[in-house]
Amino acid sequence: VATRTVSIFGATGSVGTSTLDLIRLDRDKYHVVALTAHSNAAALADLAMEFDADIAVISDPEQYDVLKALLAGSNIQAAAGPDQLVAAAALDVDWTMAAIVGCAGLPPTLAALKGGKTVALANKEALVSAGALMMAQAKEAGATLLPVDSEHNAIFQCLQGGRIDQVRKITLTASGGPFRSWSKEQMASVTPEQAVAHPNWDMGAKISVDSATMMNKGLELIEAHHLFPVGLDKIDILVHPQSVIHSMVEYHDCSTLAQLGSPDMRIPIASALAWPERMDTDCTPLDLAKIGRLDFEAPDVDRFPAIKLAREAIEAGGAVPAILNAANEIAVAAFLKGSVQFLEITEIVSRIVDSYSPGEPNDLADIFAIDKETRDRAVAMIEDVKV
Ligand code: NDP
Ligand code: MG
Repeated sequence: VATRTVSIFGATGSVGTSTLDLIRLDRDKYHVVALTAHSNAAALADLAMEFDADIAVISDPEQYDVLKALLAGSNIQAAAGPDQLVAAAALDVDWTMAAIVGCAGLPPTLAALKGGKTVALANKEALVSAGALMMAQAKEAGATLLPVDSEHNAIFQCLQGGRIDQVRKITLTASGGPFRSWSKEQMASVTPEQAVAHPNWDMGAKISVDSATMMNKGLELIEAHHLFPVGLDKIDILVHPQSVIHSMVEYHDCSTLAQLGSPDMRIPIASALAWPERMDTDCTPLDLAKIGRLDFEAPDVDRFPAIKLAREAIEAGGAVPAILNAANEIAVAAFLKGSVQFLEITEIVSRIVDSYSPGEPNDLADIFAIDKETRDRAVAMIEDVKV
């Protein structure tokens, strides 16, 4: 078999390790070029050795010596810092997984797209902050962007054999998160532990909190708007607590296609890894007789205002989605550290979006300036809230 060269950005995370689990199933088929992490040098070194990677990049420069020591005596090159992350993304590989969390994943993802190969995208924050730029880069370089987020992967699959101009409606399904049926009063006192315990999916901390506030669905709405340009009024959100239907596409003739599967990220990742082929996995097949029923309900924007904020951010355009994303990253990190309350996450995002209106970003430098200024403002606001 011909080997495929692959690189995984965010290799130590939830999506990164799931991707490597799939590669383990058919080890000889892949040659791993680059693996990256932020600060977890030990886990990165272990994975780089196991998969015999060419290069391991740690983005936190302070961990460089640790990584270098761990890889001493191997043939694996150690590298560190944001510039090396981008340099690794520019290496020529067949397939790149973009699974860094947050806007920090934007520069390497853009560099990978520039190479004109296939990029599997999990890193939704990059697309939210710089959607226009990323889509333009992908188009210009002739890169293939494969959505990994389960909903977008479902939509992508439902669009095979159809065209975007034949679509009447896209329905993004949402689990509703752990507090789907909680009142605002109940949500006021939730702890980080409660918020990261998702009923269906096992994910990283940040996206788990996003799922609990439903900002995740808001970010996914923005993500869908860029990936599938049907117009915002044609993208709906539907709460479906079982997370079996991962999203749907309705065509003009009223045929609705859906993609179903167990709530296991390895399924959409496998679809992106093997695309346009299909690979064998050891994922659990769906047992609909056992599941018995599928439920649906409209989202409650009153209890979950993040959905409304995201819709307004797309309508406003310009810098607003990047501001929404950066403010949310800071607010979620503060919640995880215990410095803000759960309901304050969305409140902080809303207040920052309302109080900061820079001009339209034209390039990566503009996006970064807006991202940084938003973070500074959010940090200052959180400190104000505390005193
Ligand atoms: P995790 O927190 O589990 O992993 C994040 C990865 O990114 C780790 O490898 C981490 O390294 C690295 N990282 C963190 N911060 C930085 C930084 N500043 N610079 C460079 N690398 C960094 O996240 P997930 O795997 O849950 O999520 C990854 C992305 O995929 C997110 O955008 C998320 O929204 C999206 N996604 C995730 C799903 C899931 O099921 N988990 C589902 C759908 C989408 P280290 O280990 O050293 O900290
Ligand atoms: Mg999703």
